[in-house]
Amino acid sequence: IGKQVLNALKGEINEIDYQRYIKQLTYDEAESKSNIAVFRAPNTLIANWVRTKFADKIAHLFEIKTNVKPTVSILIQSTSVQSSVQNTVAVPNIERPGGSLLNPSFTFQNFVVGDSNNFAFIAAKNVSEKPGVVYNPLFIYGGVGLGKTHLMQSVGNVMLSQGKTVIYTSVEQFLNDFTRHLSNRTMDRFKDKYRKCDLLLIDDIQFLSNKNQIQEEFFHTFDALRNENKQIIITSDKPPKKIGGLEERLKSRFESGLVADIQPPELETKIEIIKKKCEINRVKLDREVINYVATIIENNTREIEGILSKLNAYSQLMGVDITIEFARNVLKEQMAEKRSNITTDLIMDTVAKELNIKPSEIRSKSRNSNIVYARRIAIYLSRTLTPNSMPQLAQYFGMKDHTAVSHTMKKIQELMKNDEDFRVKIEELSNKVSVATPE
Ligand code: ADP
Ligand code: MG
Repeated sequence: IGKQVLNALKGEINEIDYQRYIKQLTYDEAESKSNIAVFRAPNTLIANWVRTKFADKIAHLFEIKTNVKPTVSILIQSTSVQSSVQNTVAVPNIERPGGSLLNPSFTFQNFVVGDSNNFAFIAAKNVSEKPGVVYNPLFIYGGVGLGKTHLMQSVGNVMLSQGKTVIYTSVEQFLNDFTRHLSNRTMDRFKDKYRKCDLLLIDDIQFLSNKNQIQEEFFHTFDALRNENKQIIITSDKPPKKIGGLEERLKSRFESGLVADIQPPELETKIEIIKKKCEINRVKLDREVINYVATIIENNTREIEGILSKLNAYSQLMGVDITIEFARNVLKEQMAEKRSNITTDLIMDTVAKELNIKPSEIRSKSRNSNIVYARRIAIYLSRTLTPNSMPQLAQYFGMKDHTAVSHTMKKIQELMKNDEDFRVKIEELSNKVSVATPE
């Protein structure tokens, strides 16, 4: 069936894409189930490319044939070494002898430290040096893609290398494991497994919310481990207090060690993270392109690897270097999607917020230099990101006429040309606008 689907895809996409990517795939019948379709690609580039461009289509074609829309999983052919680029592919839930599936590239060395994550980093580092002693549990929380899993697994990798038993699990996996052992009447083994490890990593604990039976079980696991001074690290998208549907006694236990947050990275940190990812994935980008990529990614650093492999794949296919023009072109689509709903109001709000002034001030007649600066930027962004004409913008921003707008455009463009920092700031702002949602 996988073969049929790939054949059907042939009719839907262009010939070149088919030859370059789809033809390279093989369907892995043994690994596939009705709700998961597994394909093998010869390398990460092709795998990533298929995931981003064709996975949806493939799933859809399956659905047409089988009435079930499967998760499409593109794995690397098993002969090759597992790539360090981890993707959203569902990793089959196998219990390894060590009991954990840690990403070997999630290490402290590979973690870029900035103001936004410094506190959590130091906390994790301390825990790795004195597990079970300094803070237990360590509770790390923050938004998607800010490095929570990376940090917790860094501790895991340190301890694994010391021969300790490390378990990395999600709430779902913990729950499945529990249910399985319960129905097999092998709860002893379950308890042995989770209560006799040296380090328990539970990722995304917010999913414990409203699951009473497993909260109970987790509570006992938690106490058993802590009584033995075994380290527990927990991550969540919000602080313990804010997790709804969670027993009070669990909340208070989560708060009893150290609660550390991770904030969205500053631009500089983003740039460093990109450099790091380039190094790990052996992608060569010059400074200008790195800065540009930094402005496209929002807070979610997960996007980075996707972008890098996209750039890399394109440049290899076309046999050209990754210049800034090239990067802009390749990533245009990505930006266009984000930019479909932008209004002048939204731009004004975003700019005002960023520059710490009131939105109404932007449209005022004030000559205060901060406000003039903000107004110019808002005009520039409105002109580049919305379909408004210059006369329309002149009216909106209370300027004399369209020549005033055109003058502003020239000023900003000139500044951007001569001052790279400024350009990066503008690009970052324009990306902020692109993902902002009107309130
Ligand atoms: P979270 O668990 O918070 O959603 P992850 O830990 O999965 O985020 O991080 C997403 C991606 O971003 C990973 O590839 C991770 O290595 C990378 N990343 C995030 N923060 C950093 C950082 N400070 N330094 C290096 N890589 C980072
Ligand atoms: Mg995570």
